[in-house]
Amino acid sequence: MLTDVFIEKLACPVCKGNLAPAGESNDKYSLLCVPCGLLYPVRDGIPVMLADEALKRVGQEPGVKDC
Ligand SMILES: [Zn+2]
Repeated sequence: MLTDVFIEKLACPVCKGNLAPAGESNDKYSLLCVPCGLLYPVRDGIPVMLADEALKRVGQEPGVKDC
């Protein structure tokens, strides 16, 4: 299980921004870089912090509210 404490220790390798949990479904989990909008996959509970593996969220407005 990922905890908020664990997530806080991670940073986006591209922009060093903060990450936020972004659950896609019950069995797929990912981490969203808020500043640059990249989605990092989580495989077997381990975040894959590689820019090559990240998905760019298209059409996302900057400054999306965190709720
Ligand atoms: Zn970033």
